[in-house]
This record gives sequence, C-alpha cells and structure tokens, in this order.
Amino acid sequence: MLHLFDTARGVVRPLEPRDPGKVSIYACGPTVYGPPHLGHGRNTLAYDILRRYLEWAGFEVTFVSNITDIDDNIIKRAATEDRPWTEVAERCEVQWYRAMAALGIRRPDHDPHATGYVDGMVALIGRLVERGLAYETGDGVYLDVGQVDGYGLLAGQPLESLRSGARIEANEDKRSPLDFVLWKLAKPGEPSWPAPWGDGRPGWHTECVVMALDLLGDGFDIHGGGLDLRFPHHENERAQAVAEGREFARLWFHNGMLEIDGEKMSKSLGNVRNLLDLVDEYDPRAFRLLVLQAHYRSPMEVSDAVLQAATTSVQRLDSFARRFATSAAQVDADPAALERFRAAMDDDLSTPAAVGLLFELVRTANADGDEAAAAAALEIAGALGLELRADGGDIGDDAMELARRRDDARAAKDFVAADALRDELVALGYEVADTPAGTELRRA
Ligand SMILES: [Zn+2]
Repeated sequence: MLHLFDTARGVVRPLEPRDPGKVSIYACGPTVYGPPHLGHGRNTLAYDILRRYLEWAGFEVTFVSNITDIDDNIIKRAATEDRPWTEVAERCEVQWYRAMAALGIRRPDHDPHATGYVDGMVALIGRLVERGLAYETGDGVYLDVGQVDGYGLLAGQPLESLRSGARIEANEDKRSPLDFVLWKLAKPGEPSWPAPWGDGRPGWHTECVVMALDLLGDGFDIHGGGLDLRFPHHENERAQAVAEGREFARLWFHNGMLEIDGEKMSKSLGNVRNLLDLVDEYDPRAFRLLVLQAHYRSPMEVSDAVLQAATTSVQRLDSFARRFATSAAQVDADPAALERFRAAMDDDLSTPAAVGLLFELVRTANADGDEAAAAAALEIAGALGLELRADGGDIGDDAMELARRRDDARAAKDFVAADALRDELVALGYEVADTPAGTELRRA
C-alpha cells in the first residue's frame, strides 16, 4: 500500500482511495504567460512519477491538471507585446506541452481551462454570497475566511496567527487581510465575463476548486502542487469547498522547490531558466533522473555539473539497455527486485532508493549477465518513466551488433578481439568509450 506524506495532517499515511482500485489526482497547472522554467519541470515530473507508479501498481488513475488561461500576468504580457491576450495564452500553452513532452511527461487525462469554467465559478461565488460567506467590495467579491472552519489547516497555523502575520493591504474594504478575491471587477479594456456583481473575471483560487470538484467529484483522492502553493492558494481553494459544505481532497501532496547553483529558484534572483532551453541543451532524461534522485519533498539543486553527471548516468543505462533489451525480454524480472522497488516507492515515494536499486541491478547484470536482474532493471526504469534507448538512437544496427560482440569479448578477456572490434567501429565513424556498463558509442 502506498504511503504518502499528507500536508493537511503532517504525517505519512496510507493512501486509501475513495473508490477501490482507482486514484483521482488534481495538480495545479501553469498560468500561461511565459515559457516554463525548471521549477515547473520538477513539479510536473513529481506528478508524472506518482501517476506512473500508481499505474504500475495496478491502479486506474484519473489525472487532472488545469491551465490558467486568464490572469493579470497574461493581460500584462499581452499589453507589453501588443497582442490579444488569447494569443499569449495559446502560445505559452503550446510551449508548456512541448517542454513537458520532451521530459517524457504524459498529458493529463483532463486539462480544464479556466476560461471554460467561468459559469461554474460564477455559480459557486453566487452561492457563497447568498449564504453570507462572501461579500462585495468596490473592486470585487471576497471570501470571509473568518467564517470557514479550520482555516489555516494547510498553512499549519491557526487563523489568529495567520492574521497577525498578514500584510496590511491597500484595500480597506476587506474585512480581514486574509480574505481573498473570488471575482475581480474588470478595469476598462480588460477581458471580462458577465456576473451579478459586475463584469469581471474569476480569482485564481476559485478556478481550481470548481474544476477539481467538477471533474473528480467530492472527496477526490490527492490534490497537489509545489510547496509554494500550500498557502495561500491551496488553503483558499479548500476554504471555498469547506464553505460550500463539500468534501475536498482527501490527501494533500506537495513537492519541494528547485534550486539552481545553490540559490532558491525565484524570479527576483533572475535565475529562472527556461525549460525549453534545458531540454534543447541537455538530454531531457538527465533532468528526470535528477528529479528521481532527490526525494520529492526535499529541495533539489540543479547545476551544469549535476546535469552533466546525470547525462553520463543515462548513457550508461542506454548501454545497458542495448546489451540486454533483447535477451532480458525472454525472461521474467527478478520478483525479489520488483518487491524491493515496490517497498521503496510505497514508502512515501522514495525514488532515491528506487534509483539506487536500479543502478545496483544494472551493475549486477553487467557483471554476471544476470538476465532476471536486467529484466527487473528495465521494468523499473520503465515504471519511473526513464525511456532507455536500446536501439541507440542515431547509432546503426551494424554498430550496435559490433558493440555487443565487443562487450562479450571484453567479458571473456579476449582483448585482441575487443581491439579489432573497436577498430571496426572507428572505421564506421564512431567514437568508442569503455565504461563500467560496456561499450559506449557516439557519432564521431
Ligand atoms: Zn490550483
């Protein structure tokens, strides 16, 4: 049984799905006003890894991740570029999915767009206003968080201490600095939708609660996002569901932040690197491997050096796959190894332990030719979403065959034959490197 850390309860606990055999997940997706950065890559990989593991473990998973396609930043970007806001949102969404596809991240089962759900949001806000839980001000409609039971659950602080720590804002119409906007009245020239309180657009926190409950229903299994969304975004989503008397997520899953060269990723530091550049400049699988090597709740550091090291590790895995993909397909994976994989992942998704096991199996297979261990390693790599290239990519079948024969010759300590095969490969135009995983080829 998978155990996960639940932010709401502050403990690791068993995932007990609402519907046996099925798991429903909602993860906050991007606001599409710029290219995705590396932190987005990490967040989205965390959910891809969770989803793939649940499927490997036999669950039927429904994964929803939204696209926020209307927002202040989109409007600002459109004004700067002098283009329609819809064009900015569409372009950035295309970039988003291009980067995610390069990372081997599967698309969500549903990717609701905020602009497609405005009616549902207006209806929710209307019910909250009717019950006296939300109120109008000069610039929009706000939720009165003082009336929400358990506000502060995800922040891990009671309402009073949150209130004393809150910034004093310019908006003096608000009853409390913690009250948040559900409906923003449009300023002249801004995109807007009709509503009883005046034309405007929904607040971000209202989007996710409406889309999650609509697509996954009350009491869905897992809600998540980066740790920075825990408060106020997730707190405020939850507050609206509680105010409505509806059961929201059963478990809250938050992943840690990403650091670049030791500095926390933040726009103010000016070190937000574009994920599109990363997937062009490095093997995208190296980034996935780095994400797997850190526990999802830990901070994770990225630098050129660690990306280079991970790239080498991925190349070793490719060499291993080239050697074993055909022969290991004929045998059953070592059941004890798969059991260890399951135990690691069930323990709050311990991907560092799972990756350690993967490399241990690769070493065993390379050293002993143990095909059951090789089959387990290939299955584990697949379950983690690491697509190994047994075909060698741009490396021809003839060269692959020579490399395989060379590995056999070296294993048999027939260095004369191994050297002759190296010469053949060089003559075919390859650079040949010896690694603990075997012969590695690169186009010269
Ligand atoms: Zn959200």
